[in-house]
Amino acid sequence: MIEFEAVSKTYPGGSVAVEEFSLTVPSHRTVALVGSSGSGKTTLLRMVNRMVEPTRGRVLIDGQNVQAGNAVSLRRSIGYVLQAGGLLPHRTVLDNVATVLRLNGLSRTPARQKAAELMGRVGLDAGLARRYPGELSGGQQQRVGVARALAPDPNILLMDEPFGAVDPIVRRELQDELLRIQKELGKTIVFVTHDVDEAFRLGDEVVVLRDHGVVAQRGTPAEILAAPADDFVADFVGANRAERTLHTQTVGGRTIAVDGDGRPVGVMTS
Ligand code: ADP
Ligand code: MG
Repeated sequence: MIEFEAVSKTYPGGSVAVEEFSLTVPSHRTVALVGSSGSGKTTLLRMVNRMVEPTRGRVLIDGQNVQAGNAVSLRRSIGYVLQAGGLLPHRTVLDNVATVLRLNGLSRTPARQKAAELMGRVGLDAGLARRYPGELSGGQQQRVGVARALAPDPNILLMDEPFGAVDPIVRRELQDELLRIQKELGKTIVFVTHDVDEAFRLGDEVVVLRDHGVVAQRGTPAEILAAPADDFVADFVGANRAERTLHTQTVGGRTIAVDGDGRPVGVMTS
């Protein structure tokens, strides 16, 4: 479980990124933080692995203040996936994944074996192991990023707009893959995105942020869709309102669901 207790962050120079943010992320669940660019999402995420130190407040993991222990071992115990992948360009795909395991004390051969296994888990063909990151598609690079984050078998996975740089179809595939992996592994995931559809697809719970990390609403996707807390949330989740507004039509005796643009999206059963 991750607890943010009234954390604030003012960067040197006086920029207030986050003001009094509190949230409990339950274990084995995915919480999606969604907000516009500059709303403080990255700052919040990085407070968990101490890449950012809060100005006030604290972050607890399973009741322990993250500030209490050693920052390096903390970071090695938490998976972190970034938009750009953050892969080492001069190491092969296999070594990118294996490096983390080596840092955690595994010797070379078992590290490579485990890395190959992880590649399979994220849907990467074994034939890609000897390639360099630059020789992969954007979607494949993001899979390597996920494999690397999973390598030390962390309880916590922090994901910062990890699928933001790939096209919509690949993005959807990566989301499906994450849902599948999460079903198998049950990590505690904090997923940051500015895309409300992505947040609704992936989050067991969604936290809608205003500027300065102010929580506009928190709830399950269904709760937020059914009852947006205010106009800000309604506007934000309504970005694709037409797609989400469903009607029913009777066609040949069956009831069909049709979206706001008139496209059929499914068949109703009752
Ligand atoms: P998001 O990830 O939601 O786009 P960030 O957490 O990156 O938001 O940024 C929140 C605010 O803090 C922004 O106004 C940003 O300009 C500012 N900020 C972020 N990082 C720094 C930094 N290292 N120094 C100064 N200001 C920063
Ligand atoms: Mg960010």
